[in-house]
Amino acid sequence: MKTTLKTNITVKDICEGFVYNELEGKGLFGFGGKLTIQPEYQRNYIYAEGDGKREMAVIESILKGYPIGLIYFNKVSENNLEVLDGQQRITSVGRFVTDKFAIQDENGNPQNFFGMAQDKKTKILGTKLLIYECEGTESQIKEWFRTINIAGVPLNPQELLNAVYSGPFVTLGKEEFSNSQNSNIQKWSAYVLGSTNRQDFLECALEWVSKSNIGDYMSSHRYDANIIELKKYFSSVIDWVFSVFIDVESEMRGLEWGRLYEQYHKKSYNPKKVWEEVQKLYGDLYVKNRKGIFEFILGGSTDTKLLEVRVFDDATKKSSYKEQTTKADKKGESNCSHCAIGHDANKETIWSINDMDADHVTAWSKGGATSAKNCQMLCKTHNRAKGNR
Ligand SMILES: [Zn+2]
Repeated sequence: MKTTLKTNITVKDICEGFVYNELEGKGLFGFGGKLTIQPEYQRNYIYAEGDGKREMAVIESILKGYPIGLIYFNKVSENNLEVLDGQQRITSVGRFVTDKFAIQDENGNPQNFFGMAQDKKTKILGTKLLIYECEGTESQIKEWFRTINIAGVPLNPQELLNAVYSGPFVTLGKEEFSNSQNSNIQKWSAYVLGSTNRQDFLECALEWVSKSNIGDYMSSHRYDANIIELKKYFSSVIDWVFSVFIDVESEMRGLEWGRLYEQYHKKSYNPKKVWEEVQKLYGDLYVKNRKGIFEFILGGSTDTKLLEVRVFDDATKKSSYKEQTTKADKKGESNCSHCAIGHDANKETIWSINDMDADHVTAWSKGGATSAKNCQMLCKTHNRAKGNR
């Protein structure tokens, strides 16, 4: 790959023909139409709204004569450049000189470009940028981009995949899943954790449809002109969750709904009964892991490991052990009640406390509490056989 350092391109040059898309909040073109600011493999413009401070800082730096850092262009052809790194800085500058935002002057008053003193305007427009133009094949550029990861905020795995498999499929996918203007985002947020501009929704949709083989999926669909399957699968999962669990709980966000859908969507559930069970478990002090409630119910309310039901404390275990062992000694039988009724060699074995585990006499799932009254010690073998029910 060939790189050339350009030191004579000015802010004025770059901002010529600057086009900003208000709806998507991103800069599109500049440099007299030669420059594509937002190529596919670039992240979304992150600090357009939310953090106006950073774009103000870019302008203030220029006014003070501070460097704003290296900018990298990918030279696609003589009249066609793409921003590899520096998209956010270029968009800030472009937005400022087209009066999209104001900075604060020395007295703290808002100051837009239009109303600025001529010498300051000249200073901004005349500022020369440090630009590396890189030339190489598509895969070289992308590989390089992936390796050095130069963007200010490190790219996350999905952003890298978008870069590596850029093309019509990624474009459509981002339009649907990385677009904060999409009115479905709010509904999806009940089940999906993350933000649109960091590609979390797209990643989730791909994760689900590909059964966790995102890279393979993106590679084989890279040149698809539609995302029908991706959209359909994603809505099927969301609609299924929505139909089984009629209330939205905060612990539902970010669960592996794709996997749960695959495993359980062919079973039928009574949403009202499911709702009652969710409520009951939410009110149960012994349930430590509320995130496990949904899978627990889907699986028929048997796998209590998912709920991390609170275990007996040591004091309770010791007192149960002592009581059981004293009684067993007198009767001349095992202190494990299951061994005592058996017919093997352990019928009279007195186990040490370390060889026993605490068990709920009445199963926790049948309403048995994790209290001394409901505690019995069983030998490890029998406790395991009985399971954690
Ligand atoms: Zn036993």
